[in-house]
Parts: sequence; C-alpha cells; structure tokens
Amino acid sequence: MKNNLIVVAGGGGFIGGHLVASLRKKGYSKIRAVDIKPFDQWWQIFPDVENLQLDLKDKGNCEKALESAEEVYNLAADMGGMGFIENNKALCMLSVLINTHLLMAAHKYGVKRYFYSSSACVYAAEKQISDDVVYLKEEHAYPAMAEDGYGWEKLFSERMCRHFHEDFKLCTRVARYHNVYGPMGTWDGGREKAPAAICRKIIKAKLAGNQEIEIWGDGNQKRTFTYIDDCLYGTFALMKSDVEEPINIGSDEVVTINSLVDIVEKIAKIKLKRIYNLNAPKGVRSRASENTLIKRRLDWTPSIKLCDGMEKTYSWIYDQIVNNRPCPIY
Ligand code: NAD
Repeated sequence: MKNNLIVVAGGGGFIGGHLVASLRKKGYSKIRAVDIKPFDQWWQIFPDVENLQLDLKDKGNCEKALESAEEVYNLAADMGGMGFIENNKALCMLSVLINTHLLMAAHKYGVKRYFYSSSACVYAAEKQISDDVVYLKEEHAYPAMAEDGYGWEKLFSERMCRHFHEDFKLCTRVARYHNVYGPMGTWDGGREKAPAAICRKIIKAKLAGNQEIEIWGDGNQKRTFTYIDDCLYGTFALMKSDVEEPINIGSDEVVTINSLVDIVEKIAKIKLKRIYNLNAPKGVRSRASENTLIKRRLDWTPSIKLCDGMEKTYSWIYDQIVNNRPCPIY
C-alpha cells in the first residue's frame, strides 16, 4: 500500500506541507504534492516528493495532478483568516473549481479514496451569535446559513463529495477543521489567522519595546483552536475509516481571544495594553467543536493543550522574525 501514489493538493500550504512531511515519515514512497505557488513559497518541500506547480482550478491540470493516483488529499483553497475571507468572498468561492475538477479527475482515474478539507465556517450563523457557546454538532450545518463566501463554498464542495460518492461510488471523506494552527504556516501579510497574528504582534511589540497590542473586536469572541499534529492524526484516522459523513476535527478547549492573548503574553513573559479595534473583521461571536461523533466513530478527539501548541507556534514565529525570514505573501 505504501508504494501507491498519494496526491496532496495544496501541498505547498500549511496543512498540506505538514501532511506531506507526515506521509514521508509514515514510509509512503510515492507522494505527489501540487500547489499553485512557486516552489520557493512552499512551507515545506522535499526532494524525494514529486512537486508540481499547477493551478488546480483548471480541469486539465487536475487531470495531470491525479493521473495514476490511489489516494488524494485536497487541501488546496484560496483562503486565509477572517481578514482575508471577509474581504475576498469571490476568490474564496472560486475554490469550488478546485474541488469540482479534482473530483472529476478522481472519478476519471478511479482514485480509491478522496479527502476533502472542509471547515467550521459551514455552520449556520444563528448558532454562533451568542456569548453562550453552542458546541457545533455536525447536524448544525443545516438549515444552512454558512459563512458568506468561504463557508458556502465549503458546504457546496462537501455536497459534491457526497454526490460523487452516491452516484459514482467514489469513496470520499470530509473533515470540518476548526482553526488549525502551528509552525510553518502564514504568520503575516493578511492571510494569517488569529493564533499566528497574535504571536507576531506580541513578538514585534517585545522586540521593539512597544507596550500595546491591537486586538480585532472586543476580545471576547470565543473559539477552539486545533494544533496541527491533532489535525493530521484526525485526518489520517478519518481517511482510513468508514465514516462517510462530514465530521468535526477540532479541539473543544474553548477560549476567548483575550485568553489566547493571555497565553501568548505568558509565553513571551510580557504584559501589553490592549487596544480593541471594533471595526476590524471579527467573525462570529462564538464557535466551538462538538466532538461526540469523532469520539464515537474514531475513538479519538484532539488533545494537545492550547498552551503547549502555542508555545511551539510562538517559538517558530519568533525564529522567523529574529532571523529576518519574511513570510511569503501571495
Ligand atoms: P494554506 O493557505 O496554507 O494552504 C492552501 C494551499 O492551497 C496554499 O498553499 C495555496 O497556494 C494552495 N492553492 C490555492 N489555490 C490553489 C489553486 N488554484 N491550485 C493549487 N493550489 C492552490 O491553508 P491551510 O491552512 O493549509 O488550509 C488547508 C485546507 O484546510 C484549506 O482547504 C482550508 O480551507 C482548510 N481549512 C483550514 C483551516 C485552518 O484553520 N488552517 C480551518 C478550516 C479549513
């Protein structure tokens, strides 16, 4: 099995890069990583992997990418944190072409298993407006009112996976990731997410001797954050499983953005004055993963504590900044 060709779409990205690294460690010998970005912007790149730079919105490129593939992980999407997705809804929705054309190519080449990375952004807005957290169960995606742009694309693509399974017997697996973070991902430039942005702001304030940090919103938005190793473990477990419906892969350790800042300040050994920017993109009021289904079906839930994951993330971003390694901006 480990000699079969595995394709990772979005292999130059944060999760895709870690997934390729992990497949290599597991002993897979034929891996193809595909991404639209030039190779020097990939977060991780390996000489023993077949690396291709292709725009997967194009149907012909999806066919090139999946020829002879046994398994496919689709992690390619035009996306970023709230700052990006609130201001780039059309670009986010265009990722529908990536998943659609990859599914068509997977069907054409008889791919055995196909993984799609969906998101907590598919969940209906009305469950996420209160300070009282509603832990989001898989069934809460319907009746649908997903995050505008990005969330609707994810929901539609989930359904494409389902119908390719029902109509063409393509074996599809769909994870709804909840805020995945860790080293070797975007930390600056507009696409970064809250954990990386907060690390960067605190590191820069510390190095410059500034006493302030800008926080988007009032800091009381609630979230759960999933460390990359947990995300990968869940992804591989789901891919191997018989779980045919979309499933949450997300921590259930709820924190406010203010508590996330507390954690990073503690790591940095600094205390900053918080300036709240109420006009900045802030997303829903509360969002948390409900993990009964994953516990029951995969006998596992994410377990890496936020403070431990943030320590590793902080230390990697600190390294990038002090060694003048700019974050690739695309
Ligand atoms: P990322 O931006 O680091 O990776 C996505 C990769 O897709 C990028 O390298 C990008 O260049 C590539 N890509 C974009 N358009 C492409 C195209 N047309 N052709 C080929 N490649 C293209 O993001 P990530 O955090 O690694 O996310 C991976 C997947 O997981 C995405 O589908 C994302 O929506 C999903 N997801 C991520 C999170 C998270 O918190 N990181 C949460 C929910 C869902």
